[in-house]
Amino acid sequence: MTYKPPNRPPGGAPPAGPAALRRANLSLVLRELRDHTSLSRADVAAATGLHRATVSNLMAELLERRLVREVGVEHVGAVGRPRRAVALHGAHVGALGMEINVDYIAVHGTDLSGRVLVERRIVYDAMGSGPDSSVRRLGLVAKEAVEAMRRAGAAPAGIAVAVPGLVDVARGVVTLAPNLYWHELPLADQLSCVLGPLRVPVRVDNDANLAALAEFTSGVAAGTPYLVYLTGEVGVGGGIILGGELLRGADGFSGEVGHLQVDPHGTQCGCGRIGCWETKVGLAALVRAAMPEQAYGLPGMPVPDPGERVADIARGLASGDQRMTTAVAQVGQWLGLGGSILANLFNPRVIVIGGYFASLAQWLLPHAQDQLQRLMVAAPAAQCRFVASTLGFGAASRGAASMVVSDIIDDPTTIMDSPPRPAPY
Ligand SMILES: [Zn+2]
Repeated sequence: MTYKPPNRPPGGAPPAGPAALRRANLSLVLRELRDHTSLSRADVAAATGLHRATVSNLMAELLERRLVREVGVEHVGAVGRPRRAVALHGAHVGALGMEINVDYIAVHGTDLSGRVLVERRIVYDAMGSGPDSSVRRLGLVAKEAVEAMRRAGAAPAGIAVAVPGLVDVARGVVTLAPNLYWHELPLADQLSCVLGPLRVPVRVDNDANLAALAEFTSGVAAGTPYLVYLTGEVGVGGGIILGGELLRGADGFSGEVGHLQVDPHGTQCGCGRIGCWETKVGLAALVRAAMPEQAYGLPGMPVPDPGERVADIARGLASGDQRMTTAVAQVGQWLGLGGSILANLFNPRVIVIGGYFASLAQWLLPHAQDQLQRLMVAAPAAQCRFVASTLGFGAASRGAASMVVSDIIDDPTTIMDSPPRPAPY
């Protein structure tokens, strides 16, 4: 069972048919409540343009489904009639976000209001395990998370998995994840099979896209309409927000910034090409230069948590280790060079750096920002700065959970099991 993104009417055309119209109106009301702490029915009617009777009818259904709750009485003015206020509820509806990356699996489970129920990161060698084992392990972690969320009173209505690679979102297929050695992997279907009787729909998306959405909604530069997010993992991906919208491209494959060729005479990348940006700034490149004895891919080496590797480097930098200082300065300069290409293309206000980039920001950013200013053609007229994410390695799984919440709000009938009520709409 694949978690299908809701069908939105093309070009904003009105939804066809009474069921579709009602679904759209339920979504409209929920979205309004998501954006406010609480509202009266009259407020909702005013904000949405729907008739008061329609709002009352829709609200009755949402109350019955426990997606909203009464939160007391508001008194408007000295002599105004008391009005019962309503807020988004959905404490029994869960949204599970996951991320699988080269060396870890991350989990972020919330209820419909965004309350965090489960959050963890598990060290896992996805690079060395192959797709079959990785899908099985992902399934086990998902089952544990689903059970923990159910114990907390929220049954997950959907799972979204973030993957570092090209994803055919409509089919739930990972077209190519170079650092995991995955090719044409039907991840949504396979994970659904592993989950079996849990029957929770699964969707798959690119990690940088999901992390960019998390940054845009709840990160350090939240609300910045022109924002580029960079994952700082073994691979480097970009999520590009333009005018407040995620840029996906014709096939959904935009943002593969880690594979911009920056050095034709460089080393081979996981994608098979030479001199890609991530061979200069990915975590494997930094570890190889800063601590070659712990490089990725050495035979017999256990895979440590990426956070531990980065903490080792941070300790070395703090104590003035010369090899590490030189390595981080070089990575910082390459970060600035690649950032300038993105700034010249997209004119973002901020480039949010995530993953390990954020952990080492105090050492990376001076070099990166200098290089960015030097190479950005519109500088100083266009202001663009690097900022460190505060969401850490959990950004993509957090974005995945919020995408499931958005999907539910876009189409609340996906979690409703009884037939819709009759008109009025
Ligand atoms: Zn590459």
